[in-house]
Amino acid sequence: MKELVCIVCPRGCRMQLAEENGRLTVTGNGCKRGAAFAESETRDPRRTICTTVRTAFPGVPVLPVRVSAEIPKSRIFDVMREINRTTVRTRLGRGDVVLENVLGLGVDVVATSSVLKETDA
Ligand code: SF4
Repeated sequence: MKELVCIVCPRGCRMQLAEENGRLTVTGNGCKRGAAFAESETRDPRRTICTTVRTAFPGVPVLPVRVSAEIPKSRIFDVMREINRTTVRTRLGRGDVVLENVLGLGVDVVATSSVLKETDA
């Protein structure tokens, strides 16, 4: 029996997970989303990344970015390394792609702010 706290909503249900013959049984979840989260956490845990990337513009030294979809939890540090190696050299706006198909994961790193476009600095 494994325990897992659901992070899908603030209620934070404490769930119990049991696996038998490859079939997962979840108890303690307050709704179906908890069971889906437990299944995903057990089979293919994924997370999102919201962070900043360096820019070449002194007035706006960093630009907020996020991944366009959740990535495998095991690849978070690899993707962060790619983001940390990157310097934005054009005035991108919100939704513009900073890194396309990062590490071949089928996910882009996109700007979440137009601050670079809106300032001359
Ligand atoms: S199981 Fe449902 S009610 Fe409980 S924390 Fe998860 S989403 Fe919220």
